[in-house]
Amino acid sequence: MIDYLTFLATVVFVFYAFICGACFGSFLNVVVWRLPRKMPILLARSHCPRCKNDILASDNIPIWGWLRLKGRCRNCQERISIKYPLVEFAVAILFAILFLLIVVMHGVTLPQGWLGKHYGGWLSEFPRCPLFAFSLHQMVLGYILLAIALIDEDRMKSPWRILIFGCLLHVAFAYWKPVVGQIDSPLAQINGLNIPSLTFFDAMKYSLLGGVTGAIFGGLSRLCKVPHQSGNALQQQILLGIFLGPIVATWASVIAASSLAAQIVSNRFLKNRSTQVTGLPLQIFCAWLLILLTWRWWPMIDTSAFLT
Ligand SMILES: [Zn+2]
Repeated sequence: MIDYLTFLATVVFVFYAFICGACFGSFLNVVVWRLPRKMPILLARSHCPRCKNDILASDNIPIWGWLRLKGRCRNCQERISIKYPLVEFAVAILFAILFLLIVVMHGVTLPQGWLGKHYGGWLSEFPRCPLFAFSLHQMVLGYILLAIALIDEDRMKSPWRILIFGCLLHVAFAYWKPVVGQIDSPLAQINGLNIPSLTFFDAMKYSLLGGVTGAIFGGLSRLCKVPHQSGNALQQQILLGIFLGPIVATWASVIAASSLAAQIVSNRFLKNRSTQVTGLPLQIFCAWLLILLTWRWWPMIDTSAFLT
Protein backbone atom coordinates (compact mmCIF):
# COMPACT_ATOMS: atom_id res chain seq x y z
CA MET A 1 0.00 0.00 0.00
CA ILE A 2 1.35 3.40 -0.91
CA ASP A 3 1.19 5.97 1.83
CA TYR A 4 0.73 9.20 -0.08
CA LEU A 5 1.78 11.44 2.79
CA THR A 6 5.08 9.59 3.18
CA PHE A 7 5.62 9.65 -0.59
CA LEU A 8 4.94 13.38 -0.79
CA ALA A 9 7.19 14.06 2.24
CA THR A 10 9.96 11.98 0.63
CA VAL A 11 9.81 14.01 -2.59
CA VAL A 12 9.73 17.33 -0.72
CA PHE A 13 12.55 16.49 1.70
CA VAL A 14 14.87 14.97 -0.91
CA PHE A 15 14.32 18.03 -3.11
CA TYR A 16 14.98 20.26 -0.10
CA ALA A 17 18.23 18.36 0.60
CA PHE A 18 19.20 18.89 -3.07
CA ILE A 19 18.57 22.67 -2.88
CA CYS A 20 20.45 22.97 0.44
CA GLY A 21 23.30 20.99 -1.11
CA ALA A 22 23.43 23.34 -4.13
CA CYS A 23 23.63 26.39 -1.82
CA PHE A 24 26.30 24.77 0.35
CA GLY A 25 28.14 23.78 -2.84
CA SER A 26 28.10 27.41 -3.95
CA PHE A 27 29.57 28.37 -0.56
CA LEU A 28 32.13 25.56 -0.95
CA ASN A 29 33.49 27.28 -4.09
CA VAL A 30 34.03 30.42 -1.99
CA VAL A 31 35.65 28.47 0.87
CA VAL A 32 38.01 26.55 -1.43
CA TRP A 33 39.22 29.75 -3.07
CA ARG A 34 39.47 32.04 -0.02
CA LEU A 35 40.43 29.80 2.92
CA PRO A 36 43.96 28.79 1.77
CA ARG A 37 44.60 32.41 0.65
CA LYS A 38 43.66 33.74 4.12
CA MET A 39 40.88 35.92 2.70
CA PRO A 40 37.71 36.73 4.71
CA ILE A 41 35.07 34.13 3.90
CA LEU A 42 31.80 35.68 4.95
CA LEU A 43 32.14 39.43 4.47
CA ALA A 44 33.40 40.14 0.97
CA ARG A 45 31.02 39.77 -1.99
CA SER A 46 31.96 37.63 -4.98
CA HIS A 47 33.29 39.50 -7.98
CA CYS A 48 34.52 38.66 -11.47
CA PRO A 49 38.30 38.02 -11.40
CA ARG A 50 38.84 40.10 -14.60
CA CYS A 51 36.54 43.14 -14.54
CA LYS A 52 36.21 43.18 -10.70
CA ASN A 53 32.47 43.91 -10.95
CA ASP A 54 30.36 42.45 -8.15
CA ILE A 55 28.30 39.45 -9.23
CA LEU A 56 24.55 40.17 -9.05
CA ALA A 57 22.63 38.14 -6.48
CA SER A 58 20.36 36.84 -9.26
CA ASP A 59 23.39 35.59 -11.23
CA ASN A 60 24.77 33.91 -8.10
CA ILE A 61 21.96 31.31 -7.89
CA PRO A 62 23.70 27.90 -7.73
CA ILE A 63 23.90 25.93 -11.04
CA TRP A 64 21.09 27.99 -12.64
CA GLY A 65 23.09 31.26 -12.61
CA TRP A 66 25.94 29.69 -14.58
CA LEU A 67 23.58 28.01 -17.06
CA ARG A 68 21.65 31.24 -17.73
CA LEU A 69 24.80 33.23 -18.43
CA LYS A 70 26.17 30.31 -20.49
CA GLY A 71 29.33 30.31 -18.37
CA ARG A 72 30.38 33.92 -19.08
CA CYS A 73 30.63 37.11 -16.98
CA ARG A 74 27.67 39.46 -17.57
CA ASN A 75 29.95 42.52 -17.99
CA CYS A 76 33.16 41.43 -19.67
CA GLN A 77 32.21 38.03 -21.14
CA GLU A 78 35.13 36.41 -19.33
CA ARG A 79 34.69 32.61 -19.22
CA ILE A 80 33.61 31.22 -15.85
CA SER A 81 34.94 27.72 -15.23
CA ILE A 82 32.49 24.82 -15.40
CA LYS A 83 34.15 23.66 -12.17
CA TYR A 84 31.84 25.97 -10.15
CA PRO A 85 28.45 24.58 -11.23
CA LEU A 86 29.91 21.06 -11.12
CA VAL A 87 30.90 21.45 -7.46
CA GLU A 88 27.43 22.87 -6.69
CA PHE A 89 25.76 19.96 -8.46
CA ALA A 90 28.03 17.40 -6.76
CA VAL A 91 27.20 18.65 -3.25
CA ALA A 92 23.48 18.85 -4.15
CA ILE A 93 23.46 15.21 -5.32
CA LEU A 94 25.55 14.15 -2.32
CA PHE A 95 23.11 15.67 0.19
CA ALA A 96 20.06 14.24 -1.62
CA ILE A 97 21.57 10.73 -1.79
CA LEU A 98 22.65 10.76 1.86
CA PHE A 99 19.16 11.82 2.96
CA LEU A 100 17.50 9.21 0.73
CA LEU A 101 19.75 6.30 1.75
CA ILE A 102 20.13 7.02 5.45
CA VAL A 103 16.81 8.57 6.46
CA VAL A 104 14.20 7.48 3.91
CA MET A 105 15.61 3.98 3.33
CA HIS A 106 16.57 3.51 7.00
CA GLY A 107 20.29 3.21 6.28
CA VAL A 108 20.13 0.15 3.96
CA THR A 109 23.87 0.31 3.32
CA LEU A 110 24.88 0.63 6.98
CA PRO A 111 26.41 -2.26 8.94
CA GLN A 112 24.20 -5.08 10.20
CA GLY A 113 22.11 -4.21 13.17
CA TRP A 114 20.86 -0.98 11.65
CA LEU A 115 19.06 -2.82 8.91
CA GLY A 116 15.40 -3.77 8.86
CA LYS A 117 14.81 -2.71 12.44
CA HIS A 118 12.38 0.05 11.52
CA TYR A 119 8.87 -1.06 10.79
CA GLY A 120 7.07 2.22 10.28
CA GLY A 121 7.62 4.69 7.45
CA TRP A 122 10.51 7.08 7.99
CA LEU A 123 8.15 9.98 8.55
CA SER A 124 6.66 8.44 11.72
CA GLU A 125 10.00 8.60 13.54
CA PHE A 126 11.32 11.79 11.97
CA PRO A 127 13.26 13.68 13.36
CA ARG A 128 13.82 11.62 16.55
CA CYS A 129 15.47 8.69 14.75
CA PRO A 130 19.26 8.70 15.32
CA LEU A 131 19.65 7.98 11.59
CA PHE A 132 18.48 11.53 10.85
CA ALA A 133 21.27 12.86 13.09
CA PHE A 134 23.65 10.45 11.34
CA SER A 135 22.66 11.74 7.89
CA LEU A 136 23.41 15.35 8.93
CA HIS A 137 26.66 14.18 10.56
CA GLN A 138 27.73 12.54 7.29
CA MET A 139 26.76 15.62 5.24
CA VAL A 140 29.09 17.68 7.45
CA LEU A 141 31.90 15.12 7.15
CA GLY A 142 31.54 14.74 3.38
CA TYR A 143 31.44 18.51 2.92
CA ILE A 144 34.69 19.05 4.86
CA LEU A 145 36.44 16.09 3.17
CA LEU A 146 35.44 17.50 -0.24
CA ALA A 147 36.61 21.00 0.77
CA ILE A 148 40.08 19.65 1.67
CA ALA A 149 40.18 17.54 -1.52
CA LEU A 150 39.35 20.56 -3.74
CA ILE A 151 41.91 22.76 -1.93
CA ASP A 152 44.44 19.99 -2.52
CA GLU A 153 43.59 19.73 -6.24
CA ASP A 154 44.37 23.49 -6.44
CA ARG A 155 47.80 22.56 -5.02
CA MET A 156 47.14 24.67 -1.93
CA LYS A 157 47.60 23.90 1.73
CA SER A 158 44.43 23.45 3.73
CA PRO A 159 44.57 25.36 7.04
CA TRP A 160 44.39 23.42 10.33
CA ARG A 161 41.41 25.58 11.36
CA ILE A 162 39.26 23.39 9.14
CA LEU A 163 40.12 20.32 11.26
CA ILE A 164 39.38 22.11 14.53
CA PHE A 165 36.05 23.35 13.11
CA GLY A 166 35.16 19.77 12.09
CA CYS A 167 36.06 18.38 15.52
CA LEU A 168 33.86 20.93 17.29
CA LEU A 169 30.93 20.03 15.05
CA HIS A 170 31.47 16.32 15.73
CA VAL A 171 31.49 16.92 19.50
CA ALA A 172 28.19 18.79 19.17
CA PHE A 173 26.67 15.88 17.19
CA ALA A 174 28.00 13.31 19.68
CA TYR A 175 26.45 15.31 22.51
CA TRP A 176 23.11 15.33 20.69
CA LYS A 177 23.11 11.62 19.64
CA PRO A 178 26.17 9.73 20.95
CA VAL A 179 25.59 6.87 18.49
CA VAL A 180 26.32 8.90 15.31
CA GLY A 181 30.08 8.32 15.39
CA GLN A 182 29.92 4.65 16.34
CA ILE A 183 27.54 3.09 13.82
CA ASP A 184 30.02 0.23 13.25
CA SER A 185 31.08 -0.13 16.87
CA PRO A 186 30.18 -3.51 18.42
CA LEU A 187 28.67 -1.57 21.31
CA ALA A 188 26.23 0.12 18.93
CA GLN A 189 24.54 -2.92 17.39
CA ILE A 190 20.84 -2.61 18.02
CA ASN A 191 18.73 -5.45 19.34
CA GLY A 192 15.14 -5.47 18.20
CA LEU A 193 14.01 -1.90 18.39
CA ASN A 194 16.30 -1.02 21.29
CA ILE A 195 18.87 1.53 20.32
CA PRO A 196 21.78 1.08 22.73
CA SER A 197 22.20 3.78 25.33
CA LEU A 198 25.70 4.88 24.51
CA THR A 199 26.96 7.84 26.49
CA PHE A 200 28.78 10.94 25.35
CA PHE A 201 31.88 9.51 27.06
CA ASP A 202 31.70 6.30 24.95
CA ALA A 203 31.43 8.46 21.83
CA MET A 204 34.51 10.52 22.78
CA LYS A 205 36.53 7.35 23.48
CA TYR A 206 35.68 5.89 20.07
CA SER A 207 36.47 9.22 18.36
CA LEU A 208 39.81 9.45 20.12
CA LEU A 209 40.71 5.90 19.06
CA GLY A 210 39.68 6.79 15.50
CA GLY A 211 41.59 10.08 15.50
CA VAL A 212 44.79 8.35 16.63
CA THR A 213 44.34 5.63 13.98
CA GLY A 214 43.82 8.29 11.32
CA ALA A 215 46.90 10.19 12.49
CA ILE A 216 49.03 7.02 12.21
CA PHE A 217 47.90 6.42 8.60
CA GLY A 218 48.30 10.11 7.81
CA GLY A 219 51.82 10.01 9.23
CA LEU A 220 52.60 7.01 7.00
CA SER A 221 51.40 8.85 3.89
CA ARG A 222 53.65 11.78 4.89
CA LEU A 223 56.64 9.41 5.10
CA CYS A 224 55.81 7.93 1.68
CA LYS A 225 55.91 11.41 0.04
CA VAL A 226 52.51 11.30 -1.67
CA PRO A 227 51.86 13.81 -4.49
CA HIS A 228 50.54 17.32 -3.64
CA GLN A 229 50.37 18.37 0.02
CA SER A 230 50.62 15.40 2.40
CA GLY A 231 49.36 17.57 5.29
CA ASN A 232 45.95 17.76 3.60
CA ALA A 233 45.55 13.97 3.59
CA LEU A 234 46.65 13.84 7.23
CA GLN A 235 43.87 16.28 8.18
CA GLN A 236 41.29 14.17 6.34
CA GLN A 237 42.42 10.91 7.90
CA ILE A 238 42.28 12.33 11.43
CA LEU A 239 38.84 13.77 10.67
CA LEU A 240 37.53 10.47 9.27
CA GLY A 241 38.76 8.67 12.39
CA ILE A 242 37.13 11.18 14.70
CA PHE A 243 33.81 11.13 12.83
CA LEU A 244 33.53 7.40 12.08
CA GLY A 245 36.00 5.55 14.28
CA PRO A 246 39.18 3.52 13.73
CA ILE A 247 37.82 0.87 11.32
CA VAL A 248 36.57 3.31 8.71
CA ALA A 249 39.78 5.38 9.03
CA THR A 250 41.78 2.21 8.31
CA TRP A 251 39.67 1.02 5.36
CA ALA A 252 39.58 4.48 3.78
CA SER A 253 43.36 4.81 4.04
CA VAL A 254 43.88 1.35 2.50
CA ILE A 255 41.46 2.04 -0.38
CA ALA A 256 42.95 5.48 -1.10
CA ALA A 257 46.52 4.18 -0.96
CA SER A 258 45.72 1.29 -3.34
CA SER A 259 43.99 3.58 -5.82
CA LEU A 260 46.95 5.99 -5.71
CA ALA A 261 49.40 3.10 -6.23
CA ALA A 262 47.30 1.84 -9.16
CA GLN A 263 47.42 5.30 -10.80
CA ILE A 264 51.20 5.62 -10.36
CA VAL A 265 51.89 2.10 -11.65
CA SER A 266 49.61 2.49 -14.68
CA ASN A 267 51.21 5.86 -15.53
CA ARG A 268 54.65 4.30 -15.39
CA PHE A 269 53.53 1.23 -17.34
CA LEU A 270 52.02 3.39 -20.10
CA LYS A 271 55.08 5.68 -19.97
CA ASN A 272 52.59 8.52 -19.82
CA ARG A 273 54.57 11.27 -18.17
CA SER A 274 52.16 14.09 -18.96
CA THR A 275 49.30 12.53 -16.99
CA GLN A 276 49.16 13.89 -13.47
CA VAL A 277 47.95 11.67 -10.66
CA THR A 278 45.15 13.07 -8.53
CA GLY A 279 46.08 13.86 -4.95
CA LEU A 280 45.46 11.51 -2.05
CA PRO A 281 42.72 13.74 -0.50
CA LEU A 282 40.41 13.35 -3.52
CA GLN A 283 40.83 9.58 -3.25
CA ILE A 284 40.13 9.63 0.49
CA PHE A 285 36.88 11.50 -0.23
CA CYS A 286 35.92 8.85 -2.83
CA ALA A 287 36.91 6.06 -0.39
CA TRP A 288 34.63 7.57 2.29
CA LEU A 289 31.74 7.66 -0.18
CA LEU A 290 32.42 4.10 -1.33
CA ILE A 291 32.44 2.80 2.25
CA LEU A 292 29.23 4.64 3.11
CA LEU A 293 27.47 3.12 0.06
CA THR A 294 28.74 -0.45 0.63
CA TRP A 295 29.37 -0.52 4.40
CA ARG A 296 26.94 -3.37 5.06
CA TRP A 297 29.02 -5.83 3.03
CA TRP A 298 32.37 -5.09 4.69
CA PRO A 299 33.65 -7.61 7.25
CA MET A 300 32.90 -6.77 10.89
CA ILE A 301 35.96 -6.10 12.98
CA ASP A 302 35.56 -6.42 16.73
CA THR A 303 37.15 -3.48 18.52
CA SER A 304 35.45 -4.08 21.86
CA ALA A 305 38.78 -5.10 23.44
CA PHE A 306 39.94 -1.48 23.05
CA LEU A 307 36.74 0.01 24.34
CA THR A 308 36.05 -1.71 27.61
ZN1 LIG B 1 33.86 40.25 -15.67
